[in-house]
Amino acid sequence: MFLKRIELQGFKSFADKTILTFDSDVIGIVGPNGCGKSNINDAIRWVLGEQSVKSLRGNSMSDVIFNGSTQRKPVQMAEVTLVFDNSRHLLNIDYEEVEVTRRIHRASGEGEYFINKTPCRLKDILNLVMDTGLGKDSLSIITQGNISAFADAKPEDRRALFEEAAGVAKYKKRKNDSLNK
Ligand code: ATP
Ligand code: MG
Repeated sequence: MFLKRIELQGFKSFADKTILTFDSDVIGIVGPNGCGKSNINDAIRWVLGEQSVKSLRGNSMSDVIFNGSTQRKPVQMAEVTLVFDNSRHLLNIDYEEVEVTRRIHRASGEGEYFINKTPCRLKDILNLVMDTGLGKDSLSIITQGNISAFADAKPEDRRALFEEAAGVAKYKKRKNDSLNK
């Protein structure tokens, strides 16, 4: 499964509708300071259910909405859609392609969530990505900070990251949980 496309509109610095398409399992985002790399990372985690305003680098959830520049007025709504290739059906949905959308309105502060354009709850999105390695805290997004932490980690901590990436960590946790019962 891989991320085929991201569509952003009104999210942080992406005032206009912006579509990024990818054709590889591994995606690298590079560019000069301030060009919006971290905003793309924020957008992905936001759609996957990030509720922590601080970790989205704002003071309130409406800070993710484009708040204007010298050239442009602020906009009233932010919307981001992630399109996943689901031909291997890792997401428990029949469709070969799965679109997950999150939207927020400035006036009401209200959030809306959609799976394949059908309104749903945040919980439905969290359930969809649970145990797929896609969650907002998973290792599917590696930031610059993660790389430094990985390079500086003690061997046993580094091993834990490998176990997490390999999908072994959840079985270890379940084993420990059952031994501690
Ligand atoms: P660096 O290489 O320094 O980490 P970056 O490419 O990760 O840079 P970002 O942090 O993604 O850059 O983008 C920062 C830019 O996004 C800033 O210019 C900031 O003003 C703009 N920005 C953030 N939130 C909003 C918003 N709500 N409305 C408009 N612009 C925003
Ligand atoms: Mg950055």
